[in-house]
Amino acid sequence: MAKVIFLDLDGVLNTEKYQAQLRGRRRSTVDTYGPLFDPEAVQNLQKILDTVPDAKIVIESSWKFEGLQWIKDMWTSRELPGSIYDITPDYLYEPANINLETFDDFRMLVGKGNEIRQWLAENEPDACNYVILDDMPDFLPEQDEHVILTNPVIGLTAENANKAIRILQS
Ligand SMILES: [Mg+2]
Repeated sequence: MAKVIFLDLDGVLNTEKYQAQLRGRRRSTVDTYGPLFDPEAVQNLQKILDTVPDAKIVIESSWKFEGLQWIKDMWTSRELPGSIYDITPDYLYEPANINLETFDDFRMLVGKGNEIRQWLAENEPDACNYVILDDMPDFLPEQDEHVILTNPVIGLTAENANKAIRILQS
């Protein structure tokens, strides 16, 4: 079965803790691509990929607006684990049939969840083991069991990584 990691970056690999550490050491917090990623969070992504090497990384972060090639170049330049397979499409929601009185319908308006649903429909229409690593719970009800919420202060933890591995291998 196909395995996909939908990856956010801010609050997952770019952490408040690491940015504060860099500032405290009077080191640069950015490179030409943007905020530097937390080595501990990157290590935990590495752990997922070491265990599930056939998992495809699809970037769902707003960093994707720089384009797929830019993301791939950043990945290579920063020597990040694995390789980038794709980015999610930009979703223009259709508010018809949405009842804003209910929370689940309200969540249908959220872009990222719809972008992931659209990507899956276009790329993995059959069953697929996927995880969504993000620090914001802005996804669709049908995606609940795939979402692993990170704490934006510390980003992707070993515990988050273990949960991702369980879902990807299920
Ligand atoms: Mg985020």
